[in-house]
Amino acid sequence: MTIPGPLPELDMPSTVIVLDDPLFERKMVKVSVVIHKKGPIALRGNKWHKLKYNLVETRRQGEERLLTFGGAFSNHIAAVAQAAALHGFKSTGIIRGEVTNPLNKTLREAMENGMKIIYESRDNYRLKNTPEYLENLRKEQGSFYMIPEGGSNLFALKGCREWIEEVNISYDYICCACGTGATLAGLITGMPPGCEATGISVLKGAEFINAEISSLLDQVGCTLRQWKIIHDYHSGGYAKSNQELENFIYDFIEKHKIQVEPVYTGKMFYGLNDLISKDYYRPGSHILAFHTGGLQYLE
Ligand SMILES: *Cc1c(COP(=O)(O)O)cnc(C)c1O
Repeated sequence: MTIPGPLPELDMPSTVIVLDDPLFERKMVKVSVVIHKKGPIALRGNKWHKLKYNLVETRRQGEERLLTFGGAFSNHIAAVAQAAALHGFKSTGIIRGEVTNPLNKTLREAMENGMKIIYESRDNYRLKNTPEYLENLRKEQGSFYMIPEGGSNLFALKGCREWIEEVNISYDYICCACGTGATLAGLITGMPPGCEATGISVLKGAEFINAEISSLLDQVGCTLRQWKIIHDYHSGGYAKSNQELENFIYDFIEKHKIQVEPVYTGKMFYGLNDLISKDYYRPGSHILAFHTGGLQYLE
């Protein structure tokens, strides 16, 4: 058995970039982007921060294998495979649905990073959080440290708190894309007093994430209530897009030379832009937008 060593700190400092835009000038707001310019592509953005303390916990428990769940294009699956490879863990990914042939980039690279891929039918996948399912998995696959789908647990909050605490300039609002909402919850726990948070939900009909975020914040004893999830910018649903979003993304990349994708960060900037145009933010304020990554599946 290999003796787990200390967890190396990845060298992934964030950079803050101020966006130049006639709209922001007209509305008298300043928008800055917090972004990783270096580090493994699958770990840039929120995923490294969500995983970091899960890896620390895995070491603490003496487990050698990380096991997690996700769809075939999941940024989280890519991140777990990458993080495991870099830190000497074995990894298993339980993938929802059938084998895609040929393998897509996400799964191909996950396997190159040594991840064992197991396809699970949609019906079985739904059972993934039941004790029976996990017990069975342990019988078949041996011992592992389980990271929930999307990596959204209290260790994720701790890592995302660290992310916002890295930023040492002053700001009035933060904004980020929300899937499960755990990243935003972690950022909220590290916001300075008086700051307000906006989460742009990328899912359709996902009002449940409000309760999810409240519950996560309760669990870490955070009583801040200055946050709001906006549900108007999903463009039809998760991973759905439309011409307006596509056009926005094309222009955004042209204008700011910052890569974004249509599933998360593109929707976040699209929503942020629209909110600013509708005077959602106080004139004179500074908005910090977190670039959560998601670029791993772009060729
Ligand atoms: C996973 C992911 C998110 C969602 O994070 P949550 O903590 O689930 O809200 C946002 N943006 C990108 C690019 C992601 O990959």
